[in-house]
Amino acid sequence: MTPSRLELSPIVAGLWRLTEWQLDVPGRVRWIEQAMELGISSFDHADIYGDYRAEALFGEALKAAPGLRRRMQLVSKCGIRLRSADRPYRLNHYDTSAAYVRAQVERSLVNLHTDQLDLVLIHRPDYLMDAAALAETFRTLTAEGKVLHWGVSNHSASQFALLHQCHPLQTNQLEFSPLALQALDDGTLDQAQQLGLRPMIWSPLAGGRLFTGEDERARRVRLAMQPIADRLGISLATLAYAWILRHPSRPHPITGSGRIDALGEAVAALPITLDAEDWYAIWTASQGHPVP
Ligand code: NAP
Repeated sequence: MTPSRLELSPIVAGLWRLTEWQLDVPGRVRWIEQAMELGISSFDHADIYGDYRAEALFGEALKAAPGLRRRMQLVSKCGIRLRSADRPYRLNHYDTSAAYVRAQVERSLVNLHTDQLDLVLIHRPDYLMDAAALAETFRTLTAEGKVLHWGVSNHSASQFALLHQCHPLQTNQLEFSPLALQALDDGTLDQAQQLGLRPMIWSPLAGGRLFTGEDERARRVRLAMQPIADRLGISLATLAYAWILRHPSRPHPITGSGRIDALGEAVAALPITLDAEDWYAIWTASQGHPVP
């Protein structure tokens, strides 16, 4: 029977950059085991990551250590037709047709060496999406046992609502960080809180720009964050995760690093509750002006 809600680990590990990590198969197995030892049991993939190659690298590790699969939750995404050497589309575009979603889900299953995905997200809003038809695709693939739960990523609140009324969605995976505040105001995080559907958060460290960005905003945010981090005795990264976790929608931040230490910095944020002054100090630095 399909459980009604999927439980992801509080911190999710993202595999977008896996092809850059130069890990051999035993190294990938060890990396997964170490993530799981930290309490990270949910892994975020997409069909297109690493030019369509990342899922297979992860799948090789699951094949080498098959006991891992049943202790983890596998998340993947589909719906982007990205030009690639063996996919010579005229241009990048979105496709949520039954045939394409099915083909990509089945390909992810093969690549990841598994029979079932715990959660599949439509990666970006397809302006040509027929919500009722896509919901039917979701039902069929769930009935076949291939996908337990469905969700979306980067969808506006109204795009989420449209699909959610045709088929229950588990989450909207959104960008949110001290350098990306739009989800606070565009209704997506409000909707997540309203529906009690915890959002997943991508690029929680702004893809590394939080540390390395040389633009005025990144410098301002670092300058505001460092004394708070020092006072709390935590790293800048842990403070960024704590800032995200402070949102009442109860987000699941997705790490992006290949370094286990960096995953530890995310987990270290879980027991921290920032006070409102610290939270707003970071918001203020990012906006470049005080609250009105
Ligand atoms: P991120 O944590 O914001 O950025 C990770 C990058 O920051 C890595 O290159 C990492 O390098 C660097 N970094 C981490 N700590 C650092 C430090 N202390 N100093 C300097 N650089 C540091 O996350 P992300 O990779 O952008 O995204 C996380 C996950 O979200 C992805 O893996 C993917 O699963 C998901 N995602 C989803 C979407 C979507 O549209 N749904 C879009 C983007 C990402 P090191 O590896 O060297 O630590």
